[in-house]
This record gives sequence, C-alpha cells and structure tokens, in this order.
Amino acid sequence: MKITFIGAAHQVTGSRTLVEWNPGRYFLVDDGMEQGENTYEMSELPISAVQIEYVFLTHAHIDHSGMLPVLVKEGFRGTIYATAETVDLCSIMLADSAQIQETDAAYETKKNLRTGGPEVQPLYTSEDVSDTMKRFIPCDYNQIIMVDDGLNVRFSDAGHLLGSSFIEFFLTENGQTRKLVCSGDVGNLDQPIIKDPAPLADADYLLIESTYGTREHDTVQKPIPILLDVLRKTFSRGGTVLIPSFAVGRTQELLYYFREIKQNRLLPEYQDFPVYVDNPLANEATAIFLQCSQDCLDDETLQVMKEGSNPIWFDGLFTTVSSDESKALNTNTEPKVIIASGGMCEGGRIRHHLKHNLWNDKNTVMFAGYQAAGTLGRIIFDGAEKVKILGEEIDVKAEIRLLQGISGHADRRGLSAWISSASARPSYIFVNHGDEDSCTGFAKYAAEEFSVPASAPFSGSEFDLLSGEWIRLTEPVYRRKNTSQGSGSSGPKNKPSPYSDLLDALKALNNYAGTLKEASNAEIRELTGKIRKLMD
Ligand SMILES: [Zn+2]
Repeated sequence: MKITFIGAAHQVTGSRTLVEWNPGRYFLVDDGMEQGENTYEMSELPISAVQIEYVFLTHAHIDHSGMLPVLVKEGFRGTIYATAETVDLCSIMLADSAQIQETDAAYETKKNLRTGGPEVQPLYTSEDVSDTMKRFIPCDYNQIIMVDDGLNVRFSDAGHLLGSSFIEFFLTENGQTRKLVCSGDVGNLDQPIIKDPAPLADADYLLIESTYGTREHDTVQKPIPILLDVLRKTFSRGGTVLIPSFAVGRTQELLYYFREIKQNRLLPEYQDFPVYVDNPLANEATAIFLQCSQDCLDDETLQVMKEGSNPIWFDGLFTTVSSDESKALNTNTEPKVIIASGGMCEGGRIRHHLKHNLWNDKNTVMFAGYQAAGTLGRIIFDGAEKVKILGEEIDVKAEIRLLQGISGHADRRGLSAWISSASARPSYIFVNHGDEDSCTGFAKYAAEEFSVPASAPFSGSEFDLLSGEWIRLTEPVYRRKNTSQGSGSSGPKNKPSPYSDLLDALKALNNYAGTLKEASNAEIRELTGKIRKLMD
C-alpha cells in the first residue's frame, strides 16, 4: 500500500496523487493541469494510464481536473468518482478547456504554416471531453462508497467551490486497514452560498493543501462595504464598474453580493443599477448553481430561498452570450456593472471591455481575485500608466480597486482549525498545493503545532502506508523552461518568454553555486569574479 506524490508538489497547480492500494492496483486522486509558471518538473506517472482503475476527483477546478481527458486519451478505461455538482461543473469547464486547447493549436498551426513549421495538435478536443464525461459516476456527500475490494471512500464538503470535497479513503491490504484523507482545496470560512468545510473525522495519513499555508487573511475588510463604496463613487461620476472575474465560483459570489445590495436596498440612490455578466461559461455555471442540491448550500442561502428569493438572481441582472451583445455594452453609456471573463485579464472578453473603459476616469476596474505576476491584471493593478491591449496602447485613467475580504482558500488559521477538528491526530501529514515557502512553511508549522511528523515531498516521492516509512524521497528537479502544460503529455507547449528564460538561468546559476560549497577556493573565486564582471 503506497502513495506516490506526482503533481502540485511544491507548487499550487497540477494536483495529481497516485495510490497503490493493493499490489498492482492503482487509483489517482485528481488529475489537474499545471497553470502559470512552475519551478519544478512534475515526474511522469510510473505506470501507464491503462493500469489506473479509478480516479477520485476532489473538485472541478482545472488545476485538479484539467488533465482527465489526456488520461482517457492515453488509455484510462476506469471510473471517475466525484460529487454530482463536480460532475456538472466538469462538463462545462473541461469543454471550455478543450475549446481553448483547440483554438490555441489552430493559431499555432496557422503561424507555423507560414514558416514551413508543423501542424500543432491540441492537447485534447471536445470529443476527448465527451469520452471523459462518460466515465464519471456522481456521488453524494457523507456516504461510504464500496468501490472495490479493500477500497471504500467517502466525499465530504470541503467548502471551497460548489461540489468541492475532501475524500476519505479506507484502504485494506492483507487485513490491515489504513485511512488516508486527501483535502483537495480547503475552503475559507463564511464564503457565500456554499457551506464551511465539514470537520475532519480522523485520518492515519493526511494530504493537505497549503495555498495560504503561511499567510492569514485580513478579516477586517468585508466585501459588501467595499462594493458599496466602489458603486457609489463610480455611479456618481456616471461611470461603469468593470470586474474581471473567474467564471465559476467568484462570479456567483459577486451575484450573491449584488442581490444582497439590491434586496436590502443598501444603495437606494442607485437601486436599479444593471449588472451584466459577459461570460458564457459563467452563465452556464450560474445555471448549475441554481439547480444544485440543497445539501451544498449554507444556512444563509437556504434562508434567502425560504423567503422566496433567488440567492444569485435579481432584477437588473443581464447575461450576455453573443459577441454582438458583448460589443453593444461598449456603446451603452448608462452607469452599470460589467462582470467579464478573464480573471487575470489574460484572455476572454475582459480585454475588449478594458480597451473601451480603461482610458476613462469616470470608470472603475475592480479586481476580485489574485493577479499573478506578469499578467495584464497585475500590470494594471501595480499602477501602469499605459498598457497595450489588442494591439493598441491605452491610457490607464480609470480608478483601480481591489475587492478584499474574499478568498476561496483557508488561510493558515483555517487549515490549522480544520486539522484540529479531527478526533485524533494523523500519524503523518503530507503537504502539497502550495508554492515553495507555503508548503515547507506549513509543514514546519503543522509538525510543531500538532507534534506529528509533517513534510512537503517533492514530485516522485513514495511512502509506504502500511509500514509508515518513506520508500523514496526525491530531490527537486528544476524546470529548465517554463511551460503551462507540463505533465509530459503531448500537446502545444507555451514558449517561455525571454524574461522567464532569464529567471531560469538565474535559478540554474543559484543551483550551481549551491554545489560549490565543497569546491576549492580558487574555483569559487573564479565564479565570483565572473559574476562580478557580468554585473559591471
Ligand atoms: Zn480549487
């Protein structure tokens, strides 16, 4: 009985963990896509996709589910277990991901053909997603599911996204049982619509995320007062509030807040302000939220429903679908809110709205989530005076605001409280899904706080769940070139920018310097001299 750490090892995306619950019998927990820049290489699966019998999926976010169609393409013929809401969300999110892969591949092919280059195949297609969706079995929360000999599982609410779960695995080999719990992403307390994370019953082994493993959220800032201030100021100037937002989860939270503002008449002077959701995927996701099981909803949301209101729908909400409807918003001068696709402004309809709104000081651009380094969202947020959008240089004159007080992830306090909610301490805590400082920092914190061994294994490390000992502890393998798809599968790779090449070169130099500790003084002096010369 063995666990192998593959993805989200010392990084926040690409979740993928392999478990051999009996000799030669394997399942995966999550199969996510790597996104953004990653420092380390993810190791290959040590077995073929055909040998994997089951996948258990914690939630629908692409960094947990996005490589499932590749697994199916590579021969996986087993079953994928997930909550019913996760299955519904995967059907739209994987289809959207396939569309992005197909569009990117078509673009690269067109470019290559001009220079005699090869045709580029998409990582996967809509057809691969249809094949994948046929393999899902929807599950309820809190039910023990007897999956196979020696393999029982239970999904519990992780409070992170609609349908999100942590999964308990009851594994038996030769009459010996071990309980492994995989946290998936642990939600933040008091997120609107969905419940708080359910308590952790107990675990022999806990694999826990650490996105905010060393940080604590600001609990003073609340989203509704910030929204009211932004709306009042912008509408008094006759302007538009433009919100770049992720389609699934964050957009529905925003709709919940806008419904609260309207229903409770918190902005009486502008009671009828319109809200446009310009994002087809978000509108499909909203429909899934509207049909979900009441088991997924928190008490406040159920109360709103009991009083006869729809928690995420209100008078003045418009969902635009066609690109003509989207374009029409730019000629409409009424004070309004536009929630548009492209959470970090890297793609989607937000770019076209930024082009039409950013130059005008009547308007406000309000960020409602983390903006990664290097993205257009981050550049605007960091105070650029001009930005290039869709080939045009645009002045940044609009007011730039941040909606604080919202997060989909538990912070260090939340993760710690969740571990404390168990009736007994695990005998080992494995930490993943956090950048270098977060995962190692949280492992150190958890080891001290709970007096149990804890560590953040690198990709490829293996642990024997029966004996409780490491089989293999791997060294980190630094990624030479940053790619957005890094699982070793076929498909288009993003070309690294010259700047990411520079960062890679610096990391390589740093690693090399690390190996010179035992070198002769002459060698060390020689390298130091070269670096100083370069700096001059
Ligand atoms: Zn997530």
